[in-house]
Amino acid sequence: MEHFEKYESYIPFDLTNPRNFIIASLVLLAIVIFRYLLVAGLFWLAFYKNSSPAIKNRQIYATLPSRKNQLYEIKWSMYTSILFAVSGVLMGVMWQLGLTQLYLKFDQFGYWYLPVSLLVISIVHDFYFYWTHRWLHTPKIFKLFHSVHHNSITPSPWASFSFHPVEGLVQALALPVIILFIPAHPLALLIYLTFMTLSAVTNHLGFEILPRGSEQRLGKWIISGVHHGQHHRYYRYNFGLFYTFFDHLYSTEHPNFAKEYQQVFDKKAP
Ligand SMILES: [Zn+2]
Ligand SMILES: [Zn+2]
Repeated sequence: MEHFEKYESYIPFDLTNPRNFIIASLVLLAIVIFRYLLVAGLFWLAFYKNSSPAIKNRQIYATLPSRKNQLYEIKWSMYTSILFAVSGVLMGVMWQLGLTQLYLKFDQFGYWYLPVSLLVISIVHDFYFYWTHRWLHTPKIFKLFHSVHHNSITPSPWASFSFHPVEGLVQALALPVIILFIPAHPLALLIYLTFMTLSAVTNHLGFEILPRGSEQRLGKWIISGVHHGQHHRYYRYNFGLFYTFFDHLYSTEHPNFAKEYQQVFDKKAP
């Protein structure tokens, strides 16, 4: 594990050199796209290419999104991947210049802080996402920058990064801003980024992955397919990213969330 306590393991060269910046951005772009295709692709295979009743019984919408829609989502996700890659390298530059709260020794704040930092970052990120998302829903801004994402009324796992570049930029800036203030280990951040992809894919999957009855338990606090699916269909509700806290706090959760959650499991398999 010592390897992960060395700065050079993460940043082997001077990122302020423009040539290195471009090379690092291209390498990171390949990684971001690969991770997106891998995670979304695995869920797509497991849920869209499998007609077993156990899977079909979790399907949220009557019909699955068309091939044309899925290709549309992949196209916009590619643009967003570029922004995510550049934002990743930007974080590296900020780290190199000593502007961030990133730290290397695993036990610098105690081992307990490693999982706690992930929790804190995810809550702060959720708050940032919630309010920027509310802003994206103001009529003028929605038309300009957020309609790309909402063109998927019944999204597929490929919609997880399907954003207009301005929305992509707003989202890509979240972590660089967060690491200015919250101490984080870079390995914890890498785990967080993968968790983000996983959460984005499952929220747009079109199938509910939490168990039956979760609307009163885990699903009451954690966002999944039914919750975010309602956002795509009803627009005015369910603005959160990972948790439902802020939708509860600001009274923006869809009033029929629990009912629609149950309906997914109660319907006869199509
Ligand atoms: Zn929205
Ligand atoms: Zn969405």
